[in-house]
Formats: sequence, structure tokens, C-alpha cells
Amino acid sequence: MNKEKQRDKKLIGITVLLLIFAVIYQHFANEKDTLSVLRQGEPAAARFENAGGNYPSYKLWDAQENFLGYGVIAGASGYGGKLSVLSVLNPAGQITKVSLTENSETPLYLNKVLATGFLQKILGRNPEQGFGDINAVSGATITSEAIIAAVQKGSVQIANEQLGMKIPNDDGVNPTWKDMAALALVLTAIICSARKIKKLRPWLLFLSVIFIGFILNNSLTFSNFVSLFSGNLPSFVERPIWYLMVPGILIITLFRGENFYCSWLCPFGAVQEGIYRSLNLFKFSPSQNIQSKVGKYRWWMLWVAAMTALIFNNAGIASYEPFSVCFDGSGNIAQWIIMSIILLMSIALFRFWCHSFCPVGLMLDFMARLQRKLKRKKIEIRENANCNHCDNASCPQKISGMSRQDKLYLVLVSIVNIIILIALLLNISSMS
Ligand code: SF4
Repeated sequence: MNKEKQRDKKLIGITVLLLIFAVIYQHFANEKDTLSVLRQGEPAAARFENAGGNYPSYKLWDAQENFLGYGVIAGASGYGGKLSVLSVLNPAGQITKVSLTENSETPLYLNKVLATGFLQKILGRNPEQGFGDINAVSGATITSEAIIAAVQKGSVQIANEQLGMKIPNDDGVNPTWKDMAALALVLTAIICSARKIKKLRPWLLFLSVIFIGFILNNSLTFSNFVSLFSGNLPSFVERPIWYLMVPGILIITLFRGENFYCSWLCPFGAVQEGIYRSLNLFKFSPSQNIQSKVGKYRWWMLWVAAMTALIFNNAGIASYEPFSVCFDGSGNIAQWIIMSIILLMSIALFRFWCHSFCPVGLMLDFMARLQRKLKRKKIEIRENANCNHCDNASCPQKISGMSRQDKLYLVLVSIVNIIILIALLLNISSMS
């Protein structure tokens, strides 16, 4: 047992070290040569001078010393992470080119936006004219709005500081009704879980499916955690809801020692549970022992996703969950297959995705357990937590070996894990 523990400790140490190296690598990979970045927008640029301002901005000249205009790089927050957008303006202040210099956006949404020729709609405008009449791309609203916000911020800076215009820039936090409704839902879930008002749980889950799932499509995803831990944070002004849903839920979970999100708020958890409770046509009950062991393999999948996201400098890649497919119809083919298998299996197995694959639940459970351990509380066994009885030598499941259902469960889990790896590969291949 001691040897096993030592081996586990070594493995954990190596894993954490590799993650740290990946974060450092990501930091250096971000640094690019300024002129080559500016040439993405103005290929004729041969020389530049810093023009100052909050956002990096430059005056550009060609090889014959003709003044070409201005380049400005401003960032905004997309769905999966930050987007840095280079806007090039001619000497009259007209936007002649918009290009993405860096992004941690979920490839799926970004590709959707780029495929519609959205960037071309911005060309020819000047900051005085504004961008309010450009419609966001349906199914990728946050991404399109982030691009517009970045172009607006950068071009207004050039207009005001270089061209002598006086365009007001909206820099304050403007919470929308969606932000306020999300806040109300999260607060209600916290109160209900703290006071154990179980009567309201089905209603809260239902509201969450409608609002967090279908309206916002803002389920907590693993890529949110990757963004958070790699310091790739969106602006609070632009996405206050992100701070509520990611660090907010994480801190509350850590503080309370209870994973209230999974039990009271997660829309995909609610969908699985709803199917199980309403269509529980036949019983499929692999042993707790086997489910517990399989559940631990989620760490490896989580690690692979985190490393991939950090190496490719794109937190959005880490999202292999089928949440967006379920609520927005957006996802790669592997995610569609995963969702179909999970929803089908939900007829027979309670929260199949949660127990066997979900990286978000794993992280939140870990945070909750950490707090309980710190407080030296006895660890309670939650409905969807691991059994842990497998450590006991007298566990009946251990003695009797694997049943047919256990074997079938293992085959299913292996298939889904392979499809998850394919989903990650597809995410990488769809990077812009
Ligand atoms: S484990 Fe994942 S899918 Fe399940 S409830 Fe938690 S976050 Fe949602």
C-alpha cells in the first residue's frame, strides 16, 4: 500500500510539474514580434512608432516612408477567453483591416463568426459612425460582440488621441438583465442548498436548463477553469457574469465545502437527471466499486485537456463537454456522439456524464472536499460522490469481481473516453 501511495505521489508530482511548464511555455509563446503582428493588418508596413494610449497603438510607414495610418490592438472577452484584435485605420480614421492577433476563444464559435465574413462588415467604418448596427452572428453572439467591442475600444482611442475627435468611450460596468437574472438564480441556489429547501430544487434545475442552458448557454466548462488558473481572465467590465459563474462559484464551493452547483444549478446535470427520473425504463447498475474507480480516471482526461489547452495557448480547446451541443446545437461531431450516448444512457443510469467523465464536477467536488478536509470535518458521501468502500477489504463487490453490467459499463466508458480524445483533437484542428 505504501509503495502504491509513493508511486501515486510521484505521478501527481510529475503531472503538476508538467502543468507548470505548460503555463510557462504558454506565457512565452504569447510574445510575438510587433512588426510581424502589424503586418497582418497592413502588409506594406516597414516601420512603426508607438502612439501611446491604454491599448498598444502604432503609427505605420511603408518602405518609402509614406505614412500608412494607425494600428491598434485591443482585447475583449469572448466565450472561452480573451480575443486580441488588431484594427488598422487609414490617416482619415477609416478602418481598413481587422484581424485577430491572439485568441483563447472556443474554436467552434470563432470559426462560426469568421465563416460569415463578419470582419468584413466592420471595414470602411469610422469610430464616429459607431458599430451598434452590426448584427451579432447567431449562435456566436458573445464572440461577435467581443470582436466589435475590441475594434470599438481601439479605434475610439486612435480617433480621440491621434485624430483630435471627441468620441465618448463607454468604460463602465453595465450589467444586463441576463447578468441580474443569473445573479438571482445563483443566489437562490446558494440559499436553497444552505437551508436544504429541497422542494425548490426541481424548479431551480428547470429554470437553470431554460436560462443558463438555452438562453445564456453559459454552463460552467473546464475551459473556464483553464482560463482562470492560467490567468487568462476576461475583463470584468465586459463579462461580469463570467466572474459570477467561474471564480464566484468556485470560491463559494470552497468556502462552503459543498458542491452546490452540480446539485442545484447545472443545466446538463438537470437534463440527465430529468431523463433518468421520467424515463427510467430499465435498471443498469454497475457496482459502486467500478464506478468509483472509473471516476478517478477523469483526472487523466482533465490533465490531457489542460495540457493541450496550455500548449496550444487556447483555453477553449479544453472544452470537450457536450454542454454547447445540448443547449445551442454547437459542437464537433465527437461532441454530438458523446451527447447522444450520454442522453441515451441517462434512461438507465443516474447522471452518467457526471459520475464518469465530467471535469467540472470533478474540480468542484475536489474544492468542496478540500474545504472539508481543511476543517477536519467528516467527509459526507454525496449522492453522486464516489463510494470509497472499495478501500475496505470486506467490500462485497471486491470479492465477487466484475458483473456483466460492470463489464458493459467499462466498455461504454472506454468508448466515450476515446471519443472525448477525438473531440479534443477536433478542437485543435479547428483552431483559427
Ligand atoms: S458533474 Fe458536470 S454535468 Fe454533472 S452536474 Fe456537475 S458540472 Fe454538471
